[in-house]
Parts: sequence; structure tokens; C-alpha cells
Amino acid sequence: MSKIIMQTPLVEMDGDEMTRIIWQQIKEEVILPFVDLKTEYYDLGLPNREATADAVTIAAAEANKKYGVSVKCATITANEQRVEEYHLSKMWPSPNATIRAILDGTVFRTPIVVNGISPAVKSWQLPITVARHAYGDVYKATEYRIPGPGKAELVFVGDDGTKWCETIYDFEDAGVLQAQYNKDSSIKSFARCCFEYALETKRDLWFASKDTISKIYDQSFKNIFQHIYDNEYKNKFNELGIEYFYTLIDDAVARVIRSKGGFIWACKNYDGDVMSDMVSTAFGSLAMMTSVLVSPQGVYEYEAAHGTVTQHYYRYLKDEETSTNPMATLFAWTGALNKRGEFDNNKELIKFAKTLEETAVATIEEGTMTGDLINMWEGKIIPHKVSSLEFLQAIRQKLEKIYS
Ligand code: NAP
Ligand code: MG
Repeated sequence: MSKIIMQTPLVEMDGDEMTRIIWQQIKEEVILPFVDLKTEYYDLGLPNREATADAVTIAAAEANKKYGVSVKCATITANEQRVEEYHLSKMWPSPNATIRAILDGTVFRTPIVVNGISPAVKSWQLPITVARHAYGDVYKATEYRIPGPGKAELVFVGDDGTKWCETIYDFEDAGVLQAQYNKDSSIKSFARCCFEYALETKRDLWFASKDTISKIYDQSFKNIFQHIYDNEYKNKFNELGIEYFYTLIDDAVARVIRSKGGFIWACKNYDGDVMSDMVSTAFGSLAMMTSVLVSPQGVYEYEAAHGTVTQHYYRYLKDEETSTNPMATLFAWTGALNKRGEFDNNKELIKFAKTLEETAVATIEEGTMTGDLINMWEGKIIPHKVSSLEFLQAIRQKLEKIYS
């Protein structure tokens, strides 16, 4: 067979530990035999971030902007222990945070659903996508530990000299204090990313916050979403027969549990952080959760939602048997190849991405799966536990039949 041709390269961001091993296996087993793969390669593995003083991460994000689509392997976020382990000159920032700051995007996380692994919530039939606003709020808060009695004030001084000040609390004793912020520009791009993603995937969009309590802060999010919807998206949503609605976060939580799934749930930063873990766990496993960062300019970065699976990597280094699930990383590749195909109007590439996804799902549904899925398996077939490589080889055999 002749390989599928690509017109434009994908930006490929390699990563660390077990996912770096799987990355190579995915390319060798299920992509390179079928696609004449064009990528612009950036090594975001921690040793190369150290060697380049993290310039490689910035270059990769800029390339992502230039080409429009990237696929990223999980990477280590440095902490004190990693500084020692990798002899780092500095605690390099999280690559995801760097890329997010450059692309100004929203992260959408969607579970991969297979027959035989049923969600903990019995009514869920379709995947739920959590859209997390990855900017500001508690992640950029200023905090202070109040040592003893005194008055805390919140002060704003405008560039034009106007001053606003309000007492937060008259502390009669020790306590804690926190100030959060967000920007209209970031909330607007969050809203637009969510509306665009809903149009693209033809699914309803829910947005929830706590505006009854937070009458200015959360209310601003609610109003900005509504304003953009009414002025830019209402007609397009009506044409597609999809819906946008706002509801209180408490109500959303209750509705999500009673729903059939199949919608996008937009959340503020903290809610999205917490709820995406709940949704992914309820759907099965972090190893079955994909993630895509979408910028308001329509730039896409695909990755797995899980990390570098360090514990498996340490076992792999000791030559012990590992069975790490490559599904989410594989779906990062198919997501990126599909989007590249859409941008270049490359129907063969789009078809290949879809076929690869279907083949991977079918492999599990026919009973061949990694260890993490065995315990959750409820299908009729007796499952067969395989290594990552054996799993990918099983997919390859099926693909070879399709493409022979
Ligand atoms: P993790 O890599 O997601 O792994 C946590 C545990 O989840 C694993 O030990 C494993 O459980 C299970 N797991 C995750 N992915 C799996 C897969 N594909 N197949 C089978 N089991 C899987 O999280 P972590 O151990 O907290 O973090 C490790 C490193 O990843 C850290 O350095 C962190 O900074 C980084 N990280 C990167 C990203 C990213 O780049 N997007 C995201 C999160 C974390 P068992 O051990 O029970 O099998
Ligand atoms: Mg979290």
C-alpha cells in the first residue's frame, strides 16, 4: 500500500518517562507504517528543557501558533524532588502553563467511551466534555497569613488616580486572606473557545458558576458569556439545533449526574480542575481521558490528560513488566492528525485518524486491553491483559488488514 501523504507538518512535542516510551511505540506501530508523517519535532523532555534553558518550550508553542496544530506528550512538571533527580539548574515552569499562556487557550477534556466499561453513573451514555478556564482565580491568587488583630482592606488605584477601598474584615485574631482576579479579555476568549467548540462538535454547552453568592466576580463571567452568546452565536446555535444555557454550579452538578451525557460543561478554573477529575474517574480512568487546548484564534494542541506515569517508568527501568494504557496518547495523535486533515482538506488523513480510533476501541471491545482496564471490565468476553506494545501491535494487525 502507498502511505497517506501530508501537506503540512504537525508540531510534535515529545515528553518524559513512560509516556515518552509509549510515544515512540505509537509512532512506530500504528502511524509510520500508514502515514508519510511530517512533523516539526520539539523535545520537551526535561533534560532538553534544561539544556535549552526552557527555550524549546517557547519555540514549540510559537511553532504551534504558526502551523495551527500540535500533539504533545506528557511532560514532568519540575518540583524540588525533580530538581535533584535531574540535576536541574532551575525549577523550570510547567510546559503546559507556558504553552497555555502563549496560546491563551481553553482546555477541553473528553473521555474515550468503550462498550464493556460502563461509567459509574449509570445514566451516562455519551461522553461529557469538561471545558476548563485555565487562567487566573485561585491559581494566581495573592495570599497572606494574618498574624494577629488588625484590619484587612481591598484597594484599587486606577492609572487615572481614582481610588477604591473596602474593608474586608476587622480581624480580632490570627487568620488568612486571599485576593483573586481575572480579566474580561481572558473570560471573553474562554467564552468564544467554548461556543466555537460547541459548534464544531455540535453539542449543547452548559456554563455554571456561583453568581448568587459572588455577585460581581462570578456574575461578570455569566454576563460576558450571555452577551457574547446573544450577539455572536445565538443564530448559529439555533441553526444546528444546539443549546447554550447558564445555571448555578450546584444545579449543574445535580443535572450532570442525572443526564445522559453528550454535552460540554464549561467551568471556571477551580471547578474545571476538580470536576474534570470527577468526570474522568466516573467514566473509567485517567488513562482514557483526552485533552485539547483550543485558542480563540483556532490553534489546537492535543494531549493525554494523564501525566508521565512515573511509577510505571521506574518499574520499566528495572525491567519489570508494565502495562501502561496508550489510549489517551494515541487519541492525542488521532485528534491532531484529524485536525491537520481538516485544515489541509486531506480526506485520507481524516479517514485514517477515524479508522485508527475505531480500531483501538474495537481492540478493547474484543477483549485485548492493558492492566488498568481489566479491573473495570464488565463485558461478556474474558479479557486478555497485554503490555502497551502488545496492545499497539494488536491494533496494527487490524489496520494492516484494512489498509492492505
Ligand atoms: P500520572 O502520570 O497521571 O499517573 C498517576 C497514576 O495514574 C499512575 O501511577 C497510574 O496508576 C495511573 N495512570 C495514569 N496514566 C495511566 C496510563 N496511561 N495507563 C495506566 N495507568 C495510568 O500522574 P502523577 O504520577 O501524579 O505524575 C507523574 C508526572 O507527570 C509528574 O512529574 C507530573 O508533573 C506530570 N504530569 C504531567 C501532565 C501533563 O504533561 N499534561 C499532567 C499531569 C502530571 P497505577 O500506578 O495505580 O497503575
Ligand atoms: Mg486536578
